[in-house]
Amino acid sequence: MKRVPRPFLLLFAAALLTACETVEETGRRRLRLPFLTDSYMNDLGAQAYQEETGKYKVLRGTKEAQMIERVGQRIAKASGRDYQWEFKLLDAPNVVNAFCLPGGKIAFYTGILPICANEDGVAIVMGHEVAHATSGHGAERMSQGLAAEIVLAGVSVGLDLGKMSTEKKETVLGALGVGASVGVMLPFSREHESEADEIGLRFAIRAGYDPNAAPLLWERMAKMGDGGPEFLSTHPDPARRAERLRELIPRLVAEEKARAAGGAAR
Ligand SMILES: [Zn+2]
Repeated sequence: MKRVPRPFLLLFAAALLTACETVEETGRRRLRLPFLTDSYMNDLGAQAYQEETGKYKVLRGTKEAQMIERVGQRIAKASGRDYQWEFKLLDAPNVVNAFCLPGGKIAFYTGILPICANEDGVAIVMGHEVAHATSGHGAERMSQGLAAEIVLAGVSVGLDLGKMSTEKKETVLGALGVGASVGVMLPFSREHESEADEIGLRFAIRAGYDPNAAPLLWERMAKMGDGGPEFLSTHPDPARRAERLRELIPRLVAEEKARAAGGAAR
């Protein structure tokens, strides 16, 4: 076992003391190393986006690519975040995955489209991924465990992905949720997943999509079984999610209706 370096412990303690923020939609307190600011994370998100999307052909102008763009714009607006949004559909029929990096950099691999089944299904996946980004889950993961060690080691070089060893780069990409193509898939915690499910569903409802698509989507995922697609390795227990989402729908629909009626702009 490698010893945890002393600077790491000191900075981690400092982080615990100073960087507890809350997730806007749920009020949950989240951890963030003080230097992982929004602009820093957005920079890293843009680098990781280039790195990952550069490995595939980006589809443009097709019906599916237009749908990803359309759903993306609607979910982005519903999230209320002022990001530099980008939406890409990657030509990868064997990759069942999608992600949204810090700062609103979104990619869908074509392999996930059959499971989405329709535009409402795409909106559910999009909402979920966008919720990971708006809730700062990437920064929180990078503030914990092995990823935090690497982040701290990289502080002096500005955490430039291009200057990192392959191993370090993969850990950082894994923490951001884009490790599929390098084989490092770091599952989000159950807490992050539940949060992204709930906030994502809220965004989809707010954007005018059918919330009932959510349990149906996860039931289709469940049918794919173990050893299935990338998305399931980081998003376990689809049947339980479907059940929980079905329970959540009436309350979230009512709350979003009240929110729209009140004209609240958060
Ligand atoms: Zn997730």
